[in-house]
Amino acid sequence: MRSVADQMSRVLADLRVPEPIELALLDAQGLLCAEDVFAVAPLPGFDNSSMDGYAVRAADTVGANDDAPVELPVVGDIPAGSRAPRGVSAGISLRIMTGAPMPAGADGVVPVEWTDGGVARVRIHRATQQGAFVRRVGEDVQTGDLVISAGTPLGPAQVGLLAAVGRERVLVRPRPRVSVLSTGSELIGVGERPAIGEIIDSNSYSLAAAARDAGAEAYRVGVVPDDHALLVDTLEGQLPRADLLVTSGGVSAGAFDVVKQALSELGTVEFVRVAMQPGMPQGFGTLGPDGTPIFCLPGNPVSALVSFEVFVRPAIRLMLGKRRLDRRTVLATMRQRVSSPPGRRQYRRGLLIREEDGSYSCEPVGGAGSHLLASLARANCLIVIDEEVTEVSEGDQVRVVPLLLAGA
Ligand code: AMP
Ligand code: MG
Repeated sequence: MRSVADQMSRVLADLRVPEPIELALLDAQGLLCAEDVFAVAPLPGFDNSSMDGYAVRAADTVGANDDAPVELPVVGDIPAGSRAPRGVSAGISLRIMTGAPMPAGADGVVPVEWTDGGVARVRIHRATQQGAFVRRVGEDVQTGDLVISAGTPLGPAQVGLLAAVGRERVLVRPRPRVSVLSTGSELIGVGERPAIGEIIDSNSYSLAAAARDAGAEAYRVGVVPDDHALLVDTLEGQLPRADLLVTSGGVSAGAFDVVKQALSELGTVEFVRVAMQPGMPQGFGTLGPDGTPIFCLPGNPVSALVSFEVFVRPAIRLMLGKRRLDRRTVLATMRQRVSSPPGRRQYRRGLLIREEDGSYSCEPVGGAGSHLLASLARANCLIVIDEEVTEVSEGDQVRVVPLLLAGA
């Protein structure tokens, strides 16, 4: 049997990060920037007022107070968007709005709150200073500044900044396109009524959802029966549209485990037993002329999703260009004794609880059976019990992977 760590490093060694593509700003959200973006103009683009008020020469307001306000004529208005405001000379003012360009000759703004709000004449009862309430050209960004560097994750603020510097499109690491298909002659579509012996295909849903959650663009192919030729045809049909293929089912040692039979023959996909529970049988390799990576996961719903979490999610993150491939783990105090098979890393579904002092505790949810999808849906974490550990007692510390998906 191969260790989880060994299988993981073989998988990662076979993956390539797809070439960057240019996307419209909102489509780039959540992705990593793949270029250094420089400002071609300053921000702000011109001196402007940070307040609604009056543009003045600061010297004209010296000494103004409640007892002795300064009174100035107001010779016009400068609304936001005004293109060519008239200038200010000594002894006069212009009413100005937030974001409007400062008029030539003015060197300060008196906020409307410091005045009587006058329209023809204004009474100012507090002096302003040179430069006060004026946003200077280039104060935020200067022409030529590096505003976003390659590798930066594009969240709302970065998307906004790119827009502000005039970029409609940006080069990013694309979402890998992941095709998900379920194999098994017992499987039917979700709209159909299962007869005895039939099962609704849930894996193509959970795995497509997991692929999306990991940042991929998921395409749910649906069900392929246990038929050699049909399987190979369907996989080939997906190759032009996929950066990564994920199948479930048909990888055990059963007589009709057609994924294993069909893909083993090609010689580019390897089927191994990995020292983990659930998820022992795993297939991984490449298909087609471009060497498209393919994961062949076991069919049991819990095995499939845990295998995805352990191997496929890090693979998708690598393809997204992310540096951190694994989820952050936390240490938690076990609330209940559990046993674990020797020599295999066990992933138990669990409930992670945050105590009042900020520490974590956890307890297992449901049994270890890998068909127990409802208990997986109740869980909010995976409890990782290492290979050499066969028993965890109440009060022991365990490593836990919080799952944002479940119960969040
Ligand atoms: P297999 O790995 O093909 O031997 O399947 C193992 C078990 O998982 C069987 O009980 C299957 O019926 C079940 N199973 C396989 N594929 C799916 C699927 N797509 N959705 C739900 N259950 C499945
Ligand atoms: Mg099967």
